[in-house]
Amino acid sequence: MRLLLALVLFPAAVQAAVVAIDVGHFIEEPGATSARGRPELEFNRDLALDIEAAARARGLKTMLIGYDGFMSHLTGRTAAAAAADFFLSVHHDSVQPQFLESWEFDQVERPFSDLHSGYSLFVSRKNPALKRSLACASAIGEALRGAGFTPSLYHADPIPGENKPFADKKNGVHYYDNLIVLKTARTPAVLLEAGVILNRDEEMRMRSQEVQKRIANAVGLGLERCLSKRF
Ligand SMILES: [Zn+2]
Repeated sequence: MRLLLALVLFPAAVQAAVVAIDVGHFIEEPGATSARGRPELEFNRDLALDIEAAARARGLKTMLIGYDGFMSHLTGRTAAAAAADFFLSVHHDSVQPQFLESWEFDQVERPFSDLHSGYSLFVSRKNPALKRSLACASAIGEALRGAGFTPSLYHADPIPGENKPFADKKNGVHYYDNLIVLKTARTPAVLLEAGVILNRDEEMRMRSQEVQKRIANAVGLGLERCLSKRF
């Protein structure tokens, strides 16, 4: 009887949810370039591995998508994740080109911008599971804030290229309806921009293994909390 009650009350605890962790970008188009010249793909790979470890440590199952850098078709990523329960795309952020300045690093002139910093999270209203997508984005944002990180907020600025309205301002969640992986996902889906790698200080934080682990642990905690909820 007690077991039966537990099964009724905690069905998600009985069967571990599968989280697809998507490594944003691929070798031919590796995303943003950091203030010191490192491609975003490499940041995404490192963090995705840490998120995978953190999610597994909390009893979630995982699948890693695009780690080899050859997944050039975005819809192939969501198709590969069709059997999962949740899709998390891992990225690092840039800024609009008008904010870029230049500096010399390692004898190379490189663009940077120290204007913005922080994480942001995106969900699409075209995703078939918006409610859980948003609940998970909010839970991840809440856990990141709890771990000492700050939402960047600038993606809501009323300028070309931004204008992404807040879905949950406090936790740094925006609507980005036409983002391909979010709207083609057959599962709830969230895209994480972990930090702004064009920002010279934030780039160094994002390269720190200690910071990567703290981000990953927070993401794991947020996922565990939202995926165990019933909708
Ligand atoms: Zn990206």
